[in-house]
Amino acid sequence: MDIRMRMRLLDSVRRADQAQAAHTAAGRALTRATEAAVKALADITSREQLLAQAGTDTERAERSDALDAARTAYIDASRRKLAARRKSRRTFLAARAANRALGEHYRRYARGRGTAGLRRGGVAAGLLDELAALPLELLQAAHVILVQSSAGKDSVVMLDRIVTWARQAGVLDRVVVVHCDLGDESEWPGVRGLAQRQAERYGLRFLIARAEDLDAEPNDAGERPALGLLGLVKKRGMWPDALRRLCTATLKRSVANRLLTKILDELGLDEQAVVINCMGIRAAESPARAKKSPLSIDLRTSSSNRLVFVWHPIFDLTETEVWQRIAEHALEYHPTYDALIPRLSCVFCVLAGFDVLVRAVRLCCALGLDLPARYEDLEAGIGHQFKAQFTIADVIAEARRLETEEGPLAWKRGDAIAHHLGAAAAADYLRRLTGAAR
Ligand code: SF4
Repeated sequence: MDIRMRMRLLDSVRRADQAQAAHTAAGRALTRATEAAVKALADITSREQLLAQAGTDTERAERSDALDAARTAYIDASRRKLAARRKSRRTFLAARAANRALGEHYRRYARGRGTAGLRRGGVAAGLLDELAALPLELLQAAHVILVQSSAGKDSVVMLDRIVTWARQAGVLDRVVVVHCDLGDESEWPGVRGLAQRQAERYGLRFLIARAEDLDAEPNDAGERPALGLLGLVKKRGMWPDALRRLCTATLKRSVANRLLTKILDELGLDEQAVVINCMGIRAAESPARAKKSPLSIDLRTSSSNRLVFVWHPIFDLTETEVWQRIAEHALEYHPTYDALIPRLSCVFCVLAGFDVLVRAVRLCCALGLDLPARYEDLEAGIGHQFKAQFTIADVIAEARRLETEEGPLAWKRGDAIAHHLGAAAAADYLRRLTGAAR
């Protein structure tokens, strides 16, 4: 079975899953509507009894009105129930048709393979594993290869890997680098420029995705400033957390999706577009990330005109291997890593640990950034603490204590490589980096 056939089969699985989910949702809606109708009917019965027991004209009038209202509620509930039943029937037929189409596909393209008793999820997982093991073919089958770059160490290594494979596959022109710009209130200085240089090194198209602050005045070019983490928190009056990562959804995912729609519109395809959306997530980063699949279908973004895969091309790499590739290929990384901040996330990422945040405050002091005070003011202003376990004020207090005890942070270019790979590797990297820049 060739790669396109595998993809078509996966799309059939997606359609069947989606149709099944719609039918399940319709079933729930029917249950709710039925319960509401039963309740409304019981209400009519009790109101009729109350009306029969009314002693005065006033009571009779009031109870008669209440009975009319109960009857109206029952008519509404019955209408909703009828509509829900129709929808449930429609979605049942659609789910059955999607399952039949999947069966047809499977017979045509996977003759003799059998499902070995696997259900849809198992069939899809097997196909996705096969595709993930064929990176060149996967890239060749894509109309668009999006590389989501934060400009961090994992992003730059992922980009380098994708470029290597895309060159071998002859599809480098399909690679587009997307950087979600969170603005100066959220990110370290120079992140956006670095992301651009990292993409330009390979001559790739570079696009910025930005959630704008719609309450701010646009500039002369009609652009509004980035909403950023601070702007989002100001609007919501709450900090996001690991369970409600609205920051990622609002500031990154939804804007990147809008950009994808624009890219696909430009292509003007008359067939379903295949999009490979690459993210620099690694299994070794955390137990939660280790549970993710290297390749999956983005069910939220896929539709009849786009089949979007989420691919983690460096899922298998350890942190040391990431730094080795940076060193060997002389990839430019952000100086924040030299100050031994482990991730190039928001300056004060809601997912970061206490020690990392303390170091971030100290780095802000060294760089003359006023962000700690602004975050502290916001925290006090909204009355919601930065994290359940501690406040940003606690973080700042600890940073001040360490500054007094140890003096200001000091670092030099190459310290991150020296930390992970040794001083000789750092010296070699700096030589190569200078050579690459010439
Ligand atoms: S880096 Fe952290 S704070 Fe910033 S958007 Fe991502 S999860 Fe949210």
